This record gives sequence, structure tokens and C-alpha cells, in this order.
Amino acid sequence: MPKIRVLDKQVAELIAAGEVVERPSAVIKELVENSVDAGATVITVEIRRGGVTYMRVTDNGCGIAPEDVPTAFLRHATSKVAGQEDLNAIGTLGFRGEALASISAVAHVELFTRAEGEAVGVRYACGGEEEPELTEAGCPGGTTLVVRDLFFNTPARMKFLKKDVTEGNSVAGILDKLAMSHPEISIRFIRDGKEQLHSPGDSKLSSAVYAVCGREFSSTLIPVDYRLGHVKVRGFISAPAGCRPNRSMQNFFINGRFIRSRTAMAALEEAYKGSIMAGKFPACVLHLEVACEAVDVNVHPAKLEVRFVNERPIFDAVYHAARSALNAGDRPKEMELKK
Ligand code: ADP
Ligand code: MG
Repeated sequence: MPKIRVLDKQVAELIAAGEVVERPSAVIKELVENSVDAGATVITVEIRRGGVTYMRVTDNGCGIAPEDVPTAFLRHATSKVAGQEDLNAIGTLGFRGEALASISAVAHVELFTRAEGEAVGVRYACGGEEEPELTEAGCPGGTTLVVRDLFFNTPARMKFLKKDVTEGNSVAGILDKLAMSHPEISIRFIRDGKEQLHSPGDSKLSSAVYAVCGREFSSTLIPVDYRLGHVKVRGFISAPAGCRPNRSMQNFFINGRFIRSRTAMAALEEAYKGSIMAGKFPACVLHLEVACEAVDVNVHPAKLEVRFVNERPIFDAVYHAARSALNAGDRPKEMELKK
């Protein structure tokens, strides 16, 4: 009979980390979400070699008070949830208090931060064999995290990584979604020394979509601005002629968070029934706004799937929003014909 024992702390930590951090893009997602939660208006992300050797996220958010810095790296340490009742209505992207702990368990991490009202900032280095180190440092207001040598101590994980280009593309996908979910934030992405994305942060969704998807895609879009009951739907959908061979350009956001929702996808496609060919799929960038209590985000660590307390209002709102936009999209053409 094998003996049952409690795992030692370090092994347990590595296992827990593996659940949050499975590849570079997972690290970037957690870090940029922290920047958003910190109220940043400018976020710069730089990666090298798909992020495996080097990732840097810099923001101009609220920063972290020097005395809180070491705590931020402890598992289940968060400033976003105080008690059980907060779990019923989560308004931030993060809430588990696991990201920094997990990242520093599997990489070398360096943090620079200067909190609002502090004269100088601090540097904190952790995640290697050496003891963590907290020192004073001159730095601008906000926070920078540098993550090096991801999975240096977990070769099994390292083996499962795809080619650098694939990992880099996955990071790019995260940042595209971030730019479109937060048009009020300027997002800059530098990949192996080249700028890949620079959204202006002018609060216009159309500018963010343009920065991410380019002119050709943007030119096929019809605006959506709709409300049904408690659900608001706004953004853009593709004209039937701009439909695509797959669903990869269906972007749904709930309360500022990119999500996958079968319900929303089904509703969108239902609205195009009869106006697009089989095998073609509508594209969209749609923001749904619902009361926090109507969504359960405490579902999956990657938090891509959300559950709605009631799916029906979501379906109806997306369906009618798309229908009415498609009808309105047809109208100018009819008017032109009459002229
Ligand atoms: P969570 O985001 O779930 O709270 P994290 O491990 O991602 O957990 O971060 C822990 C804490 O560190 C956060 O609650 C926040 O207070 C602080 N923090 C992390 N990143 C930033 C940042 N970029 N700016 C300001 N504070 C940050
Ligand atoms: Mg977080």
C-alpha cells in the first residue's frame, strides 16, 4: 500500500502555479488584467521569444504601497475581495489572489512600483533560488513587472510549449482582446523589438477595432447600440457580405471582460439566418453590459467562460440587437436606390 503524505510546500506551490500559468499568454493575461484593475490608462507589453525568455508589462496605474509588495506575491493575497459577500458581485478582472504567487513560483520576477503619493518607488525581485529582495528604486508612477525564464524550474511544462511564434501569437490574441475590451486604455505591444499593436486609448471602440483588425475588416462593420430589459449591447457586427469562413472574429465582452458564450454566438448567428451562405459566419465586436449579480465569473481559473443566472435575456438581447442593426444597415442602400 503506498503511503499517503501531505505534499511539501514547494511541490504544492508548483502544482498550484501550473493551474494558473500554463503558457506565456496566461502570464500576460494575468498581468495586464492587474494593470486594468489598477486603473491604468496606458499599458505597454514587451515580449521576446514568444515570452519564454522575457516578458514585461508596464502600466501607469495606482501602484502598490511598499509595505504591501511582498504580500502581493503570497497565494490568496488580494486587495480586490475582502469577504464572502464580495464574491457575489465581482467588479474587477482579478479576485483570486493567485497570479503573482503562481508566476513567481515558475519564473524569475522583478517588480518596480511607485504608488500614488509615494516619493520614491521600490524594486522587488523574487522567484529564483535567492531570497526575495526589496529595495528603494527610482521609477515612474505605476507598476512594471518583468518575468524571465518562464518554467526554468519545471522542465515538464517547458516541453509542452509550442514554437515561439505560436506562443507569441497567443499573447497577441490576448492583447487584441484587451484593446477591444478597453478602448479607453492605450495598449502597446512590442514583440521581438517590433511594435505589433498600438491602440490609441481614445475611448472609441471603432479606433480600437481599427488598431486591432485593420482597415479592411473595419470597413465591413455595422454599428450596434441596443438595450433590451437589463441587457445593453453595443459595438459592431459584420455586414452579411463581410462574413467569414470561421468564428474566430466573434468577439463578445461582458462587463469589460472577453468571454466565450455559446448563447451569445447562437443568438448572433440566428440573426443572420437567411442572409448569409452556409459555412460563413458573422464577425462581431460586441460589448454586453449586465448587472454584476447576473453573471457568475467564479467559474474557471482562465475565466473565459461565464455563466449567466439566466441565459434567455442574453440570447434575446444579442439576437434583437443584431437584427435591428442589420435592418438599419440595409436602409441607407435602399435610400440611395430611390435617389
Ligand atoms: P488578484 O489580481 O486576484 O488580486 P494577483 O496575484 O494578480 O491577484 O495580484 C495580487 C495583488 O497585487 C492585487 O490584488 C493588487 O492589489 C496588487 N497588484 C498586482 N498587480 C498590480 C498592478 N499592476 N498595479 C497595482 N497593484 C497590483
Ligand atoms: Mg490578478
